[in-house]
Amino acid sequence: NRQWQLASRPAAEPRTADFRLRELAIPEGPRRGEVLLRNRYLSLDPYMRWRMNDAKSYAPPVGLGEVMVGATISEVVASEAEGLAPGDLVVAGGGWQDYALQPAAAVRRIDSDGVEPIAYLGALGSPGFTAYAGLMKIAQPQPGETVVVGAATGPVGSMVGQLARSAGCSTVAIAGGAEKCGLARSHFGFDAAVDHRDANFKDRLAAACPKGIDVYFENIGGPVLDAVIPLLNDFARVPVCGVISQYNGAAGMPATTPLDTLMRNALVKRLTLRGFIVTDFAEYRDEFIAKVAPLVTSGAIARLEDVVDGLERAPEAFVGMLRGANRGKLIVRID
Ligand code: NDP
Repeated sequence: NRQWQLASRPAAEPRTADFRLRELAIPEGPRRGEVLLRNRYLSLDPYMRWRMNDAKSYAPPVGLGEVMVGATISEVVASEAEGLAPGDLVVAGGGWQDYALQPAAAVRRIDSDGVEPIAYLGALGSPGFTAYAGLMKIAQPQPGETVVVGAATGPVGSMVGQLARSAGCSTVAIAGGAEKCGLARSHFGFDAAVDHRDANFKDRLAAACPKGIDVYFENIGGPVLDAVIPLLNDFARVPVCGVISQYNGAAGMPATTPLDTLMRNALVKRLTLRGFIVTDFAEYRDEFIAKVAPLVTSGAIARLEDVVDGLERAPEAFVGMLRGANRGKLIVRID
């Protein structure tokens, strides 16, 4: 059983020397409820870079000397589980190795339905589903809107673009280089594609989004996000799926700017960021008064006003407030 283990933790870009190939015995088993798998295909995904860091994240790091994790298309070679028989093909987390022992509950049988099994690692696998969930459930694209996605020729981005297009949106790909931009348009049907390595990327992105951006499906972070932000329309939605431009940061992934920190935390902690203006909630004003006015009147809710005398002192009071000089609600008594 050939097995790739994590040998060292990269501080920046990973090197091949960070992995070590070991020849081990085929795992013994299966025991009750398990299957022994022969891995046929291994999916390589951006998240694996995170797992190489010894840092707290949404999933534990791979330990030094441990097998690298990864989704696989695998063949059942021995089974002690109901419903799974030798010869069955499954999607599993078989890892970077020839054989894996897995609980049956952790694998999903692929019923041959005319699609090549490897599709279950891409368009019909985790990446495709990621695109579907982020776009359809979070962003909820509406016909006529502009949807922008980076890593647009990869399995996530390409699915985002195609689902958005079928929802009646105008779709803009961000990809690295002319060839990938061409692929985004010709193979995946994006309406426009912009090269993030182009020196005029910012301007070209703006030109490709003449009506602004309603949905930015975030896969990239960093300078791409920086170029996107000014183009976002009111009520734009930004599903934060990945920030791949940060993955090669040193262990613990120190972010380079506060924006990077925010986006990494938004992703890892599944934050919902939603801007609002109070007037958006005008329909609840009467409800607010009805519930809160009695509490203020009775003193159950305290209030504090800082009253400054004389209109002439308004500017100084205002400037002071911005420095924190006010104690409570700043009010000018005009006369
Ligand atoms: P891809 O197969 O598209 O591979 C990654 C691509 O990212 C590269 O080919 C490259 O494309 C682009 N890229 C890498 N570095 C940079 C950079 N510095 N600036 C801009 N682009 C860069 O990956 P996936 O489709 O599998 O994943 C896409 C994103 O989705 C990733 O951020 C990933 O972490 C995230 N993801 C999140 C999941 C979740 O549950 N939240 C699940 C699955 C994926 P190019 O040459 O076009 O720039």
